[in-house]
Amino acid sequence: ADTLITGASKAGDWRTYERAILPPIKDLHKIDVYEAQADGYKALKDVVRDGKFDRTELTNEVKASGLKGRGGAGFPTGLKWSFMPPVDPEKPRYLCCNGDESEPGTFKDRQIFEYNPHLMIEGITLAGYAMTIKTCYLYIRGEYDDYIHHVQTAVDEAYAKGYLGENILGTDFSFDLVVHAGAGAYICGEESSLMNSLEGKRAYPRIKPPFPAQKGIWGMPTTINNVETLADVPLIVNRGAEWFAQTGAEKHPGPVLYGVSGHVVKPGVYEYPTGMLLTDLLEAAGGPRGGKKIKAVVPGGSSTPPLTWEMAQGVTMDGDTLREAGSSMGTGCPCFLDEDTDMVAFTRRIAHFYHHESCGQCTPCRDGTGWLEKLLTRIDAGEGYTRDLDLLLDLCDQMEGRTVCALADAAAWPVRWGIRRFRDEFEAKCKPTAFDGADLSGDGAS
Ligand code: NAD
Repeated sequence: ADTLITGASKAGDWRTYERAILPPIKDLHKIDVYEAQADGYKALKDVVRDGKFDRTELTNEVKASGLKGRGGAGFPTGLKWSFMPPVDPEKPRYLCCNGDESEPGTFKDRQIFEYNPHLMIEGITLAGYAMTIKTCYLYIRGEYDDYIHHVQTAVDEAYAKGYLGENILGTDFSFDLVVHAGAGAYICGEESSLMNSLEGKRAYPRIKPPFPAQKGIWGMPTTINNVETLADVPLIVNRGAEWFAQTGAEKHPGPVLYGVSGHVVKPGVYEYPTGMLLTDLLEAAGGPRGGKKIKAVVPGGSSTPPLTWEMAQGVTMDGDTLREAGSSMGTGCPCFLDEDTDMVAFTRRIAHFYHHESCGQCTPCRDGTGWLEKLLTRIDAGEGYTRDLDLLLDLCDQMEGRTVCALADAAAWPVRWGIRRFRDEFEAKCKPTAFDGADLSGDGAS
């Protein structure tokens, strides 16, 4: 729907908000600083060693917090954990932390890798404990080379202090964390491709169901969570599910990392509660660059439909409100576009990305992304016809919901909604179709 919403911030007084995921502590990436100044590994000690929660209680605590996955789909985390089947001593079970963030406009997990990797490691270990898992693979996109080394150093520190490895904190809980570097393919962030990639196979997505909890890595029960999602777990244990549930938007709560990009004065990663007004986020990022007016916003990564700035008024960053407004929360990383933006060129550039990254397994995606790019390139060059816009929309129909994974949908949405919401701009770049305005009634007009 193209709804106009009138809403207020659900983020409380965001100007005085105190950061929890990325607190302003110097050298927080070092384990000694994390322990001494940020309650580091306290949640792990409280739960695993001192029995604050048993495994089921920990999962219930995460459920009660209302935490929804921060990778883009917003699936309830505690519910996902509870899909793991009962322990079978014959079957290994795996956790996977998805750090392949590659969605254009998305760059928030890397702040955790850089500034607070131990929060993520502690969250991973707690998740492993909750689901009786012994091994986690942390899959980091290959382009994050520096961060991979940085995270590995933090993992080594955690092993040295007994927070990872055999008999953690002198208990019978043992847990290994393996850092795995991707090789630069966007599709590997899709969870089933990621599993194939880990197994050393070509990273084609798998058909779901079966979901990973039923049949995951090497066919074994697996849970896959995003980096930020797992980093929230120690916060939930230390501050309580209630604190988390009461932070930000009621149905999509918690602190969240907003990666703000585009034509703003201070692009960057901002931590605030969910439910922040898009207009407030723009203000937090210093407002529009060069005193320009904002024309559009892409709320949560390139696959989330663009909103006109008029539509974005009163819209808050949480799943329900964004859905109602005609977009989605995605990765929570909004890109603001000013009045000078050429929406056709912008859409063509996104189409190029998806065409380049399509894995080629499904025909509607392999061929469709190519056609989207070809037609948009033609229109952008002033060589397209107005009828090409309907052809593009028809192509989107043929791609959406017809492939194994969501890449084709993600490629179609910016095109569909770009044309629907900025049609004037697209038409202005098109040549009229030969028959535009002609009388085709067959009464001898021609
Ligand atoms: P999805 O809705 O299919 O799945 C989300 C998660 O919930 C998965 O882990 C899935 O296994 C689980 N799930 C969903 N339905 C389930 C069920 N019935 N039973 C058990 N488990 C179930 O979405 P997706 O394809 O995994 O992700 C799409 C999102 O990814 C997009 O919205 C986009 O915003 C985001 N994305 C993020 C990045 C990034 O860099 N972070 C990159 C590309 C896309």
